Amino acid sequence: MDHTGLLVILSSPSGAGKSTLARRLMDWDSSLRFSISATTRPPRPGEIDGEHYHFTTPDEFRALVDDDQMLEHAEVFGNFYGSPRRPVEQAMREGRDTIFDVDWQGGQQIRASALGGHVVSIFVLPPSLPELERRLRTRGQDSEEVIAGRMAKSRAEISHWAEYDYVLINEDLDETEGQLRAILTGERLRRDRRAGLGAFVKNLMAEEQK
Ligand code: ADP
Repeated sequence: MDHTGLLVILSSPSGAGKSTLARRLMDWDSSLRFSISATTRPPRPGEIDGEHYHFTTPDEFRALVDDDQMLEHAEVFGNFYGSPRRPVEQAMREGRDTIFDVDWQGGQQIRASALGGHVVSIFVLPPSLPELERRLRTRGQDSEEVIAGRMAKSRAEISHWAEYDYVLINEDLDETEGQLRAILTGERLRRDRRAGLGAFVKNLMAEEQK
C-alpha cells in the first residue's frame, strides 16, 4: 500500500558513513531518491552537473532562495549549498521518499519548513573518534589538512545528536544498514502516512456485511 513520501535526513560528522549508508539504502530500494544539492562552488574534476551537484552561479543561487525554491541553504567556507524544493515535492506526489545528506543546520531548516511533518531524521555516530579519523584516512579522499579540519568540526556536528528522531552507532556496516531499513519500513507503516488506508478499511468493512 502506498505511503506519503518521506524526507529522510541523514546527518553525521564527516566520515561516519552516511554516504555509504545512503548508497546501500538506494540499492535496497530503487524508489528512494537522493536530494542533489545546488552549490555555488566550482565543480571538481569528474563531478557532473545534475548528478553530484547542481552547479549554479551566486546570482542564480540567490534568485532560487528569493523565489523560495530552497528547502534549506547555508554558506560553508564562502560557498552556498542548498536543497532544491521542487524535486522533493515531485517525489512526494509519487509517494517516494527523498534522502538528504545534510548537516545539523540543514536538518533544522528542513524540520522547520512546511514539509517538516514528513521528516524522519537519523543521526549516524562513529563508534569512536579515533575510528572516525581512521575512516577519513582510509577513504583516501582528503589531505591531512582537510582531515584535521573535518575532525575539528566533528564535535560541533555530534553535539546536535539529540535533535534527531533516531541515532545509530555505525560500528558494523551491515548491522547499521539493517537498522536503517527497519526505520524506513516502520515509518512508512505509520497510520498517518498510509495513503488510501481509510478507503481500504472502508472496503474491508463493507465486505464483511455481505
Ligand atoms: P560520510 O559520508 O559520513 O562522510 P563515508 O560514507 O564516506 O562517510 O564513509 C567514510 C569511510 O568509512 C568510507 O571509506 C567507508 O567505506 C568507511 N565506512 C563507512 N561505514 C563503515 C563501517 N561501519 N565500518 C568500517 N568502515 C566504514
